[in-house]
Amino acid sequence: MTPGLAVIIVGEDPASRIYVRNKIRAAEDVGVISRLFEFPSEAPPESVLGLIDSLNDNPLIHGILVQLPLPPQFNIYSVLHRILPAKDVDGFHLYNVGGLVVGERVFSPCTPYGVMKLLEHEGISVAGQNVVVVGASNIVGKPMALMVMREDATVSVCHAKTRDLAQFTILADILVVAAGVPGLIVQQMVKSGAVVIDVGINRLASGQIVGDVDFESVRQKAAYITPVPGGVGPMTVTMLIANTIQSTEHKADLIDWDAGSISGPMRSLYSHA
Ligand code: NAP
Repeated sequence: MTPGLAVIIVGEDPASRIYVRNKIRAAEDVGVISRLFEFPSEAPPESVLGLIDSLNDNPLIHGILVQLPLPPQFNIYSVLHRILPAKDVDGFHLYNVGGLVVGERVFSPCTPYGVMKLLEHEGISVAGQNVVVVGASNIVGKPMALMVMREDATVSVCHAKTRDLAQFTILADILVVAAGVPGLIVQQMVKSGAVVIDVGINRLASGQIVGDVDFESVRQKAAYITPVPGGVGPMTVTMLIANTIQSTEHKADLIDWDAGSISGPMRSLYSHA
C-alpha cells in the first residue's frame, strides 16, 4: 500500500506556502504520494469541511494535513476535529491530544515529536533532567512539555506572562524555546553545558530567518544547540512523513488482521460508521 498524504492550504500566506512546498517535496522524496488542495482566502469553511469528509472516506489517503493559520472565517478546531483521528498526522485532533496526555497516543504532533527524535538520536536522555519549555502553545509548547514529562523529566513551562524568564531558563539541563521572539534567549540565561533546542522561526526585516535563541553567544556555553534554519524545522517535516507511513502501516495491519476489512478498537478512528 503506497502512503497517501493530503495537504490542504487556504489563502496566500507566503510562509505557509513555503512550509507546504517543503512537506510535499519531502513526501515525494520518500515515495509518499501527496495531493495538494488549494483554496482562496475567502473560501467558505463548508467547502474545506466537505473536502475533509471525502478525504476521510478515501482509502488511498492515509494522512490529512490542514496548513495553519486559517483565515478568520474559520473555526480552527472545528476544522481540525473534522479529520478522522487515524488520519490526523499532525496530531492536533482532540483524540490525539488526549492520547498524548494519558499515553495512548495515535499520532504525536510533529514538531515536539521531532525534538524528541533529535534528542534520542544524539543519545540525550531526558529522564531526571530539568527541562524548561519556553512557549505554551497547543502545537509546540504544551505537547513538548507532555512528551518530556512522559519520559520522566522535571518540566517547567514558561510563557509571555512568566516573571523573570531567566530564573527558569538558567536551571535548564535541556532548554526548548518556542516563543516566536527573535533573540529572546541570550548567553547569561543559559546554564553551562545545557542542551538548547531552538524551535523558533522568525523572519527579520532584512529577510534573514532566525530562531528565538541568540545562536552565536549561546553556542559558546551550551553543550548542544540546534541552528535555525536547519535543526528542528526539517525534523518537523520528517515526523509528518513518519506519521503518514505509520498511518498506512497501521491500516494495512488492521486490514490483514480481519481478512480485508478494518475492525477492532481502531475501527471508529478509520470510519464514521
Ligand atoms: P504561538 O502560538 O504564538 O505561541 C507562542 C508561545 O510563546 C505562547 O505560549 C506565548 O505565551 C509564548 N511567548 C511569547 N512571547 C514570550 C516571551 N517573551 N517570553 C516567554 N514566552 C513567550 O507560537 P507557536 O506556534 O508555538 O510557535 C512558536 C515559534 O516556533 C514560532 O517562531 C514558530 O514559527 C515556530 N515554529 C517552528 C516550527 C518548526 O518546525 N521548527 C513549528 C511550529 C512553530 P502566551 O501563551 O502567554 O501568549
